[in-house]
Amino acid sequence: MQILNWQDLNQTERRTALSRSALVGDESLEQSVSAIVNKVQTDKDAALLSYNQQFDGVSLTELRLSAEQIDAACARVNGDIKQAIAQAMANIESFHQAQKFAPISIETQDGIRCELRSEAIEKVGLYIPGGTAPLISTVMMLALPAKIAGCEQRVLVSPPPINDAIVYAAKQCGINEIYQVGGAQAIAALAFGTESIPAVDKIFGPGNRFVTEAKRLVSQDSRCVVSIDMPAGPSEVLVIADKTANPEFIAADLLSQAEHGPDSQVMLVTNCETLANKVNAALNRQLEALPRMEIAQLALESSRTLLVTDMKQATLVSNLYGPEHLIVQTETPRELLNSIRAAGSVFLGAYTPESVGDYASGTNHVLPTYGYSRAVSSLSLADFSRRFTVQELTADGLLGLGETVMTLAAAEQLDAHKNAVKVRLDSLSLQEGKA
Ligand code: NAD
Repeated sequence: MQILNWQDLNQTERRTALSRSALVGDESLEQSVSAIVNKVQTDKDAALLSYNQQFDGVSLTELRLSAEQIDAACARVNGDIKQAIAQAMANIESFHQAQKFAPISIETQDGIRCELRSEAIEKVGLYIPGGTAPLISTVMMLALPAKIAGCEQRVLVSPPPINDAIVYAAKQCGINEIYQVGGAQAIAALAFGTESIPAVDKIFGPGNRFVTEAKRLVSQDSRCVVSIDMPAGPSEVLVIADKTANPEFIAADLLSQAEHGPDSQVMLVTNCETLANKVNAALNRQLEALPRMEIAQLALESSRTLLVTDMKQATLVSNLYGPEHLIVQTETPRELLNSIRAAGSVFLGAYTPESVGDYASGTNHVLPTYGYSRAVSSLSLADFSRRFTVQELTADGLLGLGETVMTLAAAEQLDAHKNAVKVRLDSLSLQEGKA
């Protein structure tokens, strides 16, 4: 990995050092994804079947898996995987159950009650990546919170041919609507609906740049009303390390993200040049043994090590980058936590590899990428519900607030607003006069 000294870089070089490879030099992405989205909007299932053939080399006649196909896929999954899925599910379920929303109901002044309530989103679409690796774990990360939140219709899509363990995990998480379609075309199908796939209210899930761009486009398309969870694109990790860190652990963590895809990015930020060199040596050694060596190697080409003066500067650099995953391998990792302003999920200490969060610690692995962690939260139970407010006033409540509202409405020159209060206050004074 290229080693750069942060102190020697000018502003432009610093910006380049923290830029994402997935976002560089691909102006045609919007055009090509937009063409796919439009084709699905007009040709529906026929377009999906044709894209399945073009991008995934799979020829199908039916997009939806039948109950028999689901049962047959489940029967093919081995016991070890079933057991691992059960343990991961238990932890993810516990952590997401604990996030349940507690409604708020207070009196802001006498006779004026304000409430904040939450309702599950009715129809949700769950995208499970499957292009280069079947992300069984993503099924649990999306389907469990959707079920706990109470979303009525939960539709799962994933590129064909769908891996058996994805189907098994989906069934365990209470999903029975599974469609074999991936990429931008699957996102368009969930947004517009087709003959076989229902349109949904919100689309969840990570994916490659085609999927992420399609989510962005449909969420802004006036032909449909659909929202999306977040821009969760190609994986990223940033490791902050000092001289006490183990270079073998760091190299393993960097490779665990680099193997996701050629557009993944991994960064090391350290104040120790000796460690940086040892990590490079360990990377070369460990890379040789990886079945996905070629993919990881491509990702490493646009990845960097940044040498900083101290841990304070390390957190500043990390905050500028806003990584999806942040691993802290320093002598006292928790001490840095309060300085971290932007990260999707944080992994503290030598014994917290990023993989545990990917699969089974209980936290959600759907996280903002491209630096959006500065403003966007990691996926949680709240994303599967919509919050809304309620207010209820008694007659005394309106008497106590009416003048204030009428003054503000008059200042805004909105007479009808003022009148909606005035007619009520007049009616109340009339009643009082009669009594
Ligand atoms: P994917 O399912 O996202 O994409 C595969 C689909 O891409 C294919 O089915 C195909 O339809 C489409 N495609 C491929 N080449 C295309 C082309 N040239 N033009 C148009 N469409 C094309 O699977 P993937 O590719 O393995 O990517 C998964 C991604 O998800 C990885 O980048 C990984 O890092 C990321 N990820 C992110 C998070 C997160 O929370 N941010 C979590 C897990 C995974």
